[in-house]
Amino acid sequence: MTTEALVIASGGLSIPRMGATGFGYRIAEQFGHRVLPTRAGLVPFTTSGKHLERWSELSGLSLPVRAECNAASFSNAMLFTHRGLSGPAMLQVSSYWQPGDDLRINLLPDIDAQEWITSQRQQRPDAALHNVLADVLPRRFAQRIGDLEFGERPMRQYDPPQLKRIADYLSRWPIVASGTEGYRTAEVTLGGVDTDELSSTTFESKRVPGLHFIGEVVDVTGWLGGYNFQWAWASGHAAGEVC
Ligand SMILES: Cc1cc2nc3c(=O)[nH]c(=O)nc-3n(C[C@H](O)[C@H](O)[C@H](O)COP(=O)(O)OP(=O)(O)OC[C@H]3O[C@@H](n4cnc5c(N)ncnc54)[C@H](O)[C@@H]3O)c2cc1C
Repeated sequence: MTTEALVIASGGLSIPRMGATGFGYRIAEQFGHRVLPTRAGLVPFTTSGKHLERWSELSGLSLPVRAECNAASFSNAMLFTHRGLSGPAMLQVSSYWQPGDDLRINLLPDIDAQEWITSQRQQRPDAALHNVLADVLPRRFAQRIGDLEFGERPMRQYDPPQLKRIADYLSRWPIVASGTEGYRTAEVTLGGVDTDELSSTTFESKRVPGLHFIGEVVDVTGWLGGYNFQWAWASGHAAGEVC
């Protein structure tokens, strides 16, 4: 069978149970295209060991954070899950993270933690730490931080080095991700058909006339917010104009 034009729109590897396959990558390679390594993006993090044991019972609880990794930074909600951490801030930053990378989570993204905790000690010397933390964090999380990390003493009993340790903890929560939930729940697939080998206006192959790659099979990945749909529709429209 022959055809003048062929548009590969078979998407990425995310959510195999909905029909995702590596078909498009195999076609690309068959025609000599470079396919950049693929991995799950916009995906929840998993934790293990003490990191999972300590926090998984807060599953369902969310709070605003700033999540940072490899120069990318997202201020949005983080959600505790029974496997680890999700929510928009974590999904976004997952696209910049690979195992072993440093993941920073600021639990008080809009507050100078050191100034705040120091002033709380002055203003509320008799208040228990977890009650003070509960003013800026969900109460169950505040209680657990007190229980697990810093005790439940009145504020006046925390000396300046201890207050600094609490502030550091809040502005850089020491959680370690063991991985991600992978393609099973990822919203996108990072990597794919190298854009250098495609026309930037029609997405036609520079190697094989008439062969186009559009949408997620291409090495283009957007943030949350509809950018991936937009890319799939816009690139499909552009290819369709010339096919
Ligand atoms: C749960 C979820 C939520 C998402 N939410 C958003 C969002 O809110 N905003 C946003 O912008 N993006 C979102 N995305 C990403 C977005 O859906 C994709 O980027 C977009 O649909 C990609 O379009 P596409 O046409 O390239 O591929 P797809 O929409 O993946 O379509 C590819 C099609 O090819 C089929 N296919 C694959 N292999 C074969 C084969 N061998 N034979 C036959 N058929 C095959 C697949 O079954 C599928 O139907 C989400 C993705 C998921 C999984």
